[in-house]
Formats: sequence, C-alpha cells, structure tokens
Amino acid sequence: MSHKTLATTIPIDHESIETALTYGAQKDAARVRDVLAKALTLKGLDMPDVAVLASVSDPELLAEMFDTAKKVKEEIYGRRLVLFAPLYVSNLCANECLYCAFRKSNRLVRRRALTQEEIAREVEILVSQGHKRILLVAGESYPVEGFPYILKSIETIYSVKKGNGEIRRVNVNVAPLTLEEFRELKAARIGTYQLFQETYHRDTYMKVHVDGKKRDFDWRITAMDRAMEAGIDDVGVGILFGLFDWRFEVLALMQHIRHLEQTFGVGPHTISVPRLEPACGSDIATQPPYPVSDVDFRKIVAILRMAVPYTGIIMSTRETPNIRRETFALGVSQISAGSRTNPGGYLEDEQEDMSQFSLGDHRPLDEVIRDVASLGYIPSFCTACYRLGRTGQDFMDLAKPGKIKDHCDVNALTTFMEYLIDYASPETRSVGEKCIQESLKRMTPERRRTAKILIEQVKAGSRDVFV
Ligand code: SAM
Ligand code: SF4
Repeated sequence: MSHKTLATTIPIDHESIETALTYGAQKDAARVRDVLAKALTLKGLDMPDVAVLASVSDPELLAEMFDTAKKVKEEIYGRRLVLFAPLYVSNLCANECLYCAFRKSNRLVRRRALTQEEIAREVEILVSQGHKRILLVAGESYPVEGFPYILKSIETIYSVKKGNGEIRRVNVNVAPLTLEEFRELKAARIGTYQLFQETYHRDTYMKVHVDGKKRDFDWRITAMDRAMEAGIDDVGVGILFGLFDWRFEVLALMQHIRHLEQTFGVGPHTISVPRLEPACGSDIATQPPYPVSDVDFRKIVAILRMAVPYTGIIMSTRETPNIRRETFALGVSQISAGSRTNPGGYLEDEQEDMSQFSLGDHRPLDEVIRDVASLGYIPSFCTACYRLGRTGQDFMDLAKPGKIKDHCDVNALTTFMEYLIDYASPETRSVGEKCIQESLKRMTPERRRTAKILIEQVKAGSRDVFV
C-alpha cells in the first residue's frame, strides 16, 4: 500500500446530510421507485438515494422496499448465513461511555481480564460447540503488558486444537490503534478489524463519551484509515443505534464509506448495526435518547443492503430471535450465536454483574443452527477467503461480478456438513441434511458436482476442504 498522508479527521458534512434528508422527505412515490430500480442493478446507492428511502413510511412502498432488499440479498448472498461467536477477554476499561456497563466508574461491574489459560479454556468450549470464527472483544485498558496482551490472546486462540476443530479466523473489536500497532495486529493474522463509530454526530459523541481516550472523535473516525494503511484490508464499521437520529447516522456512514473507497479503493468488509440494549448501571442504555423502532430497524438493514450490496451485514445476539429472523431475509449475512458478553462467560455462563449488555437471544448454537436451517438458510462456517488471501480489493473484485457465489455456496455446504457430523444434535443433523439436499438441488449442475465431491470427502473424514 502507498505511503499517503494519513487523515487526521474525516469531515462529516452535516449540511449535505440535512439537505439530502429534507429533499428525501418529500413524499414522492415515483422517486422511491426510481431508487428501488437503481438498487436492483446491484451498483449501490448514493447519499440522496438513501435519504429518499429513509423517509418511506407508506405501507405499500415499504413492502416494495423490503421486497427489493430481499432480491438484492438473494442475488448476492443466496441463502448463506455465516456464524461466529464473540469472545470477551477483558472488561477493564479506562473510558466513560455512558451507555456501557464496562465504563471506568461503574462500580456495579466486577472486573476481570482472562489469563491466557482461561482464554484457551473458553476457546476449547467454543470449538467443542462447532465454532470456527471468533470475534475477540475487550475494553480499552489492558492488563500490565498493555496492547501485546491482545496479540498474545490472538496467538492463544489460534493455538487451540480440540477433536477435529480449531478456530480458523479471529476478528478483533478493540479500541483504535496506532499505525504500528495495526501492523502488529495484521502480523497476528487477524481477519477483520472491527470498530464502531457509535455516533457520527460530533455533539452527541462528546455528550456520551465523557472521559478517557475515546472522547477523541477524530482518533476514532480515522482508525480505519490507519488499519488499511497498515495492510488490514478487511475492516468492519458500525453505528450504535439509539444515540442519535438513525437517518443522520446512516447518511454519515455513507460518507465514511465513500471516504474509504476513494482513499483505499475498497470500502468496509462488514457493517454492524447494534441497537442500544440495557446495561448494568447505565440510564442511557435503558432509555435511549433516540430509540429505533423495530420497523425502522428493519428499514435500516434493508437500506444498507441496497446501498452497499457487497458489504456484509452483521446481526448480533443483542436482538431477539424474531427480529434476527426477519432481518436475515432483508440483508443480514453474518450472525453471532450462543454468545456471552462477560469475560469467562462460556465456562461460567452469563453473569449480569460482569456482562457488557443484556442479550436478546440466549439460544445455544445448535438451536440457532436448527432454526436457521429449517427456515431454508445455509449456516456457513467458511473461512476460505481470508485464508486464501481473498480480502479487501481481491474479495470485492470476485464479489462484484457475482463470481464469489461459486465459491461461497460450495464452501458453506462443506463446512455445514462438517458441523453436522462433528457437533450437531440428532435433531439438528436431520434438519441440516435436508437443508443441504435442498440447496444442492438449487445449484447449477457444475457447482452441484463440485459440492457433492467435497461433501463426500468430508463424510469420509477430511476436514477444512474448500474451493
Ligand atoms: N472497547 C472497545 C470500543 O469501545 O470500541 C471495543 C469493544 S466494545 C466492548 C464493543 C461495542 O459494544 C461498542 O463499540 C459499542 O457499540 C457496543 N456497546 C456498548 N454498550 C452497549 C449497549 N449498552 N448496548 C449495545 N451495544 C453496546
Ligand atoms: Fe469501554 Fe468500549 Fe465500553 Fe466504552 S464501549 S466503556 S470503551 S468497553
């Protein structure tokens, strides 16, 4: 990557957002339908288009909008849903984010940073459940060794082997790093570096981040520039919905995305859409200043799916099973399952006085998989792209003409078969095998042939086979 001058801020243009929102708010059905037609070309949408969709409330237009998002999702992602689990290694934090249970002054939370042995134990449990991807999460204060604690934790996660399983991709959600630290993170073989701006509205940002390093809006918003400059080309962005008007946030996110595309030739790999959930010791989390209704939440997912069709959308277990199901069709491509947000939570179960926020979906992985498969989605544990170096621009080059489907569909089925043989309950295995048979029927003859060969290899005992 070239040595460009690193951005010290990314200006979010409030005026153009307000103008786009005012223009978009004119109830113009023809304009909405034009934008939906544009979305079907799979080339993405611009900020004014997004503003038009954000204002839709008419039930008929809303139904058309959801229908278009479903078509875009189906065209690009088919029926695959990638699974992962978060791993909270530490809840130590030096920041004061008013919405988070881990904030420094919150005495209601018991603090704990896992030792490497404890991390290995947690990973063994996740591997025994069938997980292949972990999202490492931590507060912004590390035990005595500092940032190398995170590097060591990644090494520990990759080192665990249990039965036929191991973690094949570690994504990371930790506070913004320096360029040099990002280079170290890249060398530790991470998949995606994930960081949420929380709110792109600077005044709101200053109100809810009252102390600590995280108060520096510019250091945070420019983190992805440093990560990409350091060679991490899969980055994941996000907004914490409920802090400010979601329409503003989504348009500002579009500006952030365009900035990354213009500077680095590629946008984010994923977008996360967390909604504020109740958190121990936080008033703001229980009573969000700008609550997002369930209908608006579905709109957000649909709009993002159409606006940046090749960027994955992640749905966490903050949401209830029902909301999660509804958003799969609208655009979600990755989900967490069986999650805990307290360090040590997989061994010791959920403990409210150590957790970051309350969960909406408490089901174990096996149950989520059974549910997803019975709805006709293919649970995927694939990690092939990252390990074959198909990341950043290379991934997008494959993804944009739709070629990635050839790989993903096959790899989803082989990794799902691995899961069914090694980890599933008899009930889930039966639902899953039917799902695989149905999926094979829908494939082109050529793709079906490849998938069948690889599935037979898995049945014969091979693991980690992919195209
Ligand atoms: N400490 C780092 C940071 O703040 O970026 C990384 C990990 S932090 C534990 C991960 C994310 O959790 C935050 O970016 C925030 O969006 C989300 N979060 C915090 N409090 C939350 C709450 N009450 N409900 C939902 N999500 C929350
Ligand atoms: Fe700390 Fe992150 Fe929670 Fe803020 S959101 S208090 S930085 S863990």
